[in-house]
Amino acid sequence: MIYHGSCHCGRVAFALEGAVKTAMSCDCSLCARKGVRLSAVSTERFTLLTAPEASTAYHFDGHAVVHRFCKTCGVQPYSEHVAEGVIYINLNCIDSIYGRAIDSASISERAA
Ligand SMILES: [Zn+2]
Repeated sequence: MIYHGSCHCGRVAFALEGAVKTAMSCDCSLCARKGVRLSAVSTERFTLLTAPEASTAYHFDGHAVVHRFCKTCGVQPYSEHVAEGVIYINLNCIDSIYGRAIDSASISERAA
């Protein structure tokens, strides 16, 4: 299974391999303001399909996580925790998931 996601304008696009089994409404001070729904996945499952220069980075709280934003439309498709090898996918950026509830039997409120 491969999901495709992108920012609003499409200049930042990615592929995610494997099933999405967890989702969380992140309550960090950034994501809470944006209403981001996340799933944490290993970096091996994530492929950036567009030029890295299409996005810019925002850091806070010790710079552990790099929040990636499209330079054109401002949408944040993903964030990276490089030291832990984790990508936080913004599930709202995946067309086949956006607007639909994920199977409630297969998700927990909090990603492990
Ligand atoms: Zn964009």
